[in-house]
Amino acid sequence: MTALLDISDYRLAFDGFEGRAHVLDGIDLRVAAGESVGIVGETGCGKSVLARSITRLVDTPPGRVLSGHIRFAGEDVLAMDQRALARLRGHGVAMIFQDPMTYLNPVFSIGSQLIDVIRAHDRAAGQRMRPRVAARAAAAEVLGAVRLPEPDRLLDRYPHELSGGMRQRVLIAMALTGTPRLLVADEPTTALDVTIQAQVLRLIGELVAERGLALLLISHDLGVIGALCRRIVVMYAGTVVEDADAAALFDRPRHPYTRGLLAAVPDLARPDHRARPIPGHIPNLLAPPPGCRFHPRCPLAVARCIAEKPALREVDGRRVACHRAEDIAA
Ligand code: SF4
Repeated sequence: MTALLDISDYRLAFDGFEGRAHVLDGIDLRVAAGESVGIVGETGCGKSVLARSITRLVDTPPGRVLSGHIRFAGEDVLAMDQRALARLRGHGVAMIFQDPMTYLNPVFSIGSQLIDVIRAHDRAAGQRMRPRVAARAAAAEVLGAVRLPEPDRLLDRYPHELSGGMRQRVLIAMALTGTPRLLVADEPTTALDVTIQAQVLRLIGELVAERGLALLLISHDLGVIGALCRRIVVMYAGTVVEDADAAALFDRPRHPYTRGLLAAVPDLARPDHRARPIPGHIPNLLAPPPGCRFHPRCPLAVARCIAEKPALREVDGRRVACHRAEDIAA
C-alpha cells in the first residue's frame, strides 16, 4: 500500500551554545491513508519534534536536517517552498496541540479566529478568499461538526469564556477547516481532566472515521494510544525502537524499552500489582550513548549493544531495533 506519509532515515539536530543535540536519529515511519497510528514514549523522546517535522515547523535554525526525506502524498516535503508549505499545513496535514489556551488568541473572539483561518486556507489553496459572511457560516458549521452546542452564539465568545474541553474542541474545529488527509494530535488530552479526556478522544475517533482521515496520535499514555490506534510506534531518545500492531504490542512487547513502559503502568484490576518504573533517565542528546541509546537502562544489554547501533528490522511480525529481539521472542 502506498504510504500517505513516508519518513525515511530522517535525522534532525538542534545547534546550541553547548553543542549539537541529535534529537531525531534515523526515523523510519510510514502512515497509510485512513490509518490510525500512535507514537508513544517518555517525555523527551522526540515525539513532538517528529510531529512538528512533518510540516517543517522545526527545521530552521537552530534546527538542522542532517539526512533523510519526508514525503506526503508523494510530494517531497523538505523541498517545498513557502507556498507549497502553506497548502500542506491545513489542506494536507492538520495539527492539534496539547494546550488549547496557548494556541487561541485571548483578545479575539472564536469566530474571528476561525474566519481568519478559513480565509487563509482559501488563499493557500489558490482560491479566492471567501467573504467574511460566508467564512462565518463555514465556521459555525465546523463548530457544529465538533459537537459544540449553539455554534452561532459561540462564534462571538472569547477563549476565556469557554471550558478547557470546549477550547480543545475549538482547536479541533480549526484543524478541520482545511481539507486535511492526516490529523496529527500531539498530546491532545493531557491538559484536560479525565472525564473530558474520554469525550475528546471519542470525538477525535468519530471525526477520523467520518472523514476517512489518517491519524497520528502522540502521547506518553499507552491507554490513550490504545483507545484509538491500530498500530503503535514506540520512540526512545530520538529513535523508533518498536513498530507493531497494537494488540501484538500489548500482548507480546519485543523491545526491552516497550516492556519497561508496559511494566510501569499500574494494573488497577490487580491490587497486588506493583508498577515498576524504568530505572535511569533519558540520555542527554548532546552526547547520546554509543550503540543502542537504551543500553545504560537496559537489563538485557550485552557488549554488542554498546559497540553497534541496532537496525530497525522485521522480527516476529513487527519492526524492532534490538540486537536481542530474537532472544526476547523466544
Ligand atoms: Fe537492550 Fe541491547 Fe536491545 Fe538495546 S540492543 S534494547 S541495549 S538488548
